[in-house]
Amino acid sequence: MYLYQTIVKELADYPLDYFVSPLRIGCVSLMLTKRCTNQCGHCCNYSSPQATEQIDLPLAEKIIEQAAGLKHYNIQIWGGEPFLHKNLFEVLACCLRHKLGVRLNTNAFWVSSPQVVRDFINKLKPLLAAAGVDLVFFVSCDKFHQQQPATPLENVVNFILALEEECAAGTTPVSYNIVSVKAREDTTIDELFSVLRKKIPDRISSIIKKINFVPIENSVGRAKTISSAEINYAPQGNALADLSQDITIYISAAGNIIFSENWIGDNIFPLGNIKEMSLPEAEKVLSGQRLFKLLQLHPAKYSFYPFRKYVDVLEITNSIASGRLKNTMIIRDRIAGLMQITEKQFDKSAELSQARQIYVDQPDIQTARKNLHSIDLYGDLSDLFYLKNLLRQTTDAVLRQDIQALLDTTYSY
Ligand code: SF4
Repeated sequence: MYLYQTIVKELADYPLDYFVSPLRIGCVSLMLTKRCTNQCGHCCNYSSPQATEQIDLPLAEKIIEQAAGLKHYNIQIWGGEPFLHKNLFEVLACCLRHKLGVRLNTNAFWVSSPQVVRDFINKLKPLLAAAGVDLVFFVSCDKFHQQQPATPLENVVNFILALEEECAAGTTPVSYNIVSVKAREDTTIDELFSVLRKKIPDRISSIIKKINFVPIENSVGRAKTISSAEINYAPQGNALADLSQDITIYISAAGNIIFSENWIGDNIFPLGNIKEMSLPEAEKVLSGQRLFKLLQLHPAKYSFYPFRKYVDVLEITNSIASGRLKNTMIIRDRIAGLMQITEKQFDKSAELSQARQIYVDQPDIQTARKNLHSIDLYGDLSDLFYLKNLLRQTTDAVLRQDIQALLDTTYSY
């Protein structure tokens, strides 16, 4: 906590006036419906066929209009499964009327043949041509999705066949990405390619570039219950990745406006509800979340230890937003200097790596407690998964108590 306290002290002496430019919403991510054909074991937002929350057309149109008014350059439509929303086409048409690029997520349940996709794209073609913006599909493909009866692998194959044909023709501004949540021993992508190699061998190199693997560590929601045996350790993934001046704002199917840096933070920084708060108002509130500008001082560094605990992030952010902590361009530079110095002081990667042996070995109680302390000081969010697993395996009451105490003082999801 040394650095945290130092920064708080440094910031407290400066007036608010010259703080760096406000954050800007670059993308609005709209969960059109929470309902889904599936109930995937890793779903970050507990979607299911029974879920009922959805954004109705008039509200969706209002949101899109506000987003366009703020000159945001794209909008993401997702769910649940957006193709279950009865007004999906109207929503997309509204985005295109406002010349907003669209990113559209789907699990491909509706893709019973390549022709269904062609028909859908053909319907949108005139609107896309008039808008001059892109439509990018994000199709899910991994063992969690393909275990579900509504989304057999065949649907993903059909989807890719149709989209590759469109991409090769190059006449429509439509493209796609494959999103695959990565867990251990998942052969779904291999199976996908073995089918595609037979059907469209000349497109394989193009398709490979469209795969985005998402580590299971980055999932929240139902993924909390996934066995740690599924987890691939990803040392670089953490909550403060993907910092940029343009940020994404999420609107849930219940209308909650959520500001988060990435999926891990899905439930933090709720700003209000879109039924009561407009997007321009939300953007105004966001510009108070100045901590993220501070963190941008160090864009190359994904993980910065003193900020790793969300409680600290929330505390310092709220303090800055409320004016209790103050800042100027001058202090910004001073903090940048301070961070570089302290980063050296805080470079504990060797110690951390040693401490993480606790997940593999069964050290004596004293060594285990010492390692736990190092993890507490220098660990990142991935350690939460490993600590929870360790808690399940450990019988020693003292060690269990220590692990539980560590988990309790860290943002828990
Ligand atoms: S992960 Fe996607 S397909 Fe699966 S239940 Fe959630 S929203 Fe539906």
